[in-house]
Amino acid sequence: INNIRYKTKIAVIGAGQAGLSSAYHLKKLGLEINRDFIILDEAPSPGGAWQFRWSSLTLSTVNKIHDLPGMSFEETLTNKETEVQANIAVPNYFDRYQKRFGLQVYRPVKVDRVSLHGQRFHIDTAETLFSAEGIINATGTWENPYIPYYPGADLFQGEQLHTKDFKTTDYFRNKHVIIVGGGISAIQLLDQISAVTTTTWVTRRPPLFREGPFDDMAGHNAVAMVEERVRQGLPPLSVVSVTGLPYSTEIQAMEKRGVLTRFPMFSEITATGVKWEDGREERADIILWNTGFKSSLKHLDAVLPKEENGGILMNGRLATMVAKEPRIHLVGYGPSASTIGANRAGSAAARELVKTLNLL
Ligand code: FAD
Repeated sequence: INNIRYKTKIAVIGAGQAGLSSAYHLKKLGLEINRDFIILDEAPSPGGAWQFRWSSLTLSTVNKIHDLPGMSFEETLTNKETEVQANIAVPNYFDRYQKRFGLQVYRPVKVDRVSLHGQRFHIDTAETLFSAEGIINATGTWENPYIPYYPGADLFQGEQLHTKDFKTTDYFRNKHVIIVGGGISAIQLLDQISAVTTTTWVTRRPPLFREGPFDDMAGHNAVAMVEERVRQGLPPLSVVSVTGLPYSTEIQAMEKRGVLTRFPMFSEITATGVKWEDGREERADIILWNTGFKSSLKHLDAVLPKEENGGILMNGRLATMVAKEPRIHLVGYGPSASTIGANRAGSAAARELVKTLNLL
């Protein structure tokens, strides 16, 4: 254990949209896979986090899955219906993509810890010790669900689940469910769960619905705002959190069914449910936290310089370069935490890292 050494120039950690895009661009720049760079991924199969998402998330209910560079998603869809499950279609796309471009991924290989030894990063995994001159980290957020703390959380005798745990609505049948969160996942799960059981919806702030379709300009502004934050070393906000919620036909239907009544956040959790500041209580069997994810970066703790506020000062064309450690790029972090953002960032990161390391 930990005695095998594998030396390379660049290690790409994570093979979701961000990792595959980065790998594609490294190859395009002339680097050879498994000699000049390697790709490591902890998941058992291709698909990044998409392989773990619930089955009712279909190509019509996701926002939009942007193509990876060089190959269209559309051409891999045998069934052009939009009701195709995202957790099948995206893994199939990634699998075909890897094969087409010869992007072999070592899996399941979980990176436990990265540390610096002289001029090289040591990348610890259960069986192999890899070493590289630079890192493109593309580990996403799925492994780091966020649940805010409320007093009494340990007392609750029901179940506390996170978006990540959701599989089917059947599980919730005949249980009273408190759904926490004002983002897209919260709304979608509220829609589905409220069709089979009783629900109470709570959010910190009143949800912001936007009229009409989400245009490119609004998307551009949202990304620019997150980019501005990370360039100042502030912790990023999720791109989705600044775009608002579409006032879709599904949402209008929920309004009509009367399930879109929003309550403010409760102030404590009790043994049997939740309690608000004014003393009102609500019984619950399940509290479902749709409170988002944070970047999965724990394995980089020893090498990632952090600001006092916990943020990371970012630099480079698309803010993928760690300003105080330019041999590390974060793709899929902050402004690039979307399929389109990850795509573009992969290109910028590959170019800049190859230049920093003088590889061409
Ligand atoms: P991931 O797909 O999470 O890939 C990260 C990879 O890193 C995984 O394969 C994982 O196994 C691996 N990994 C993690 N930690 C380690 C480790 N320590 N060692 C080795 N490997 C590791 N975005 C859109 O653009 N459109 C959408 O419609 C959309 N819908 C979404 C719906 C939901 C419910 C959620 C939660 C997110 C959605 N997003 C959407 C955001 C979307 O997930 C990202 O845009 C994008 O897919 C993330 O790609 P990624 O490569 O950064 O991360």
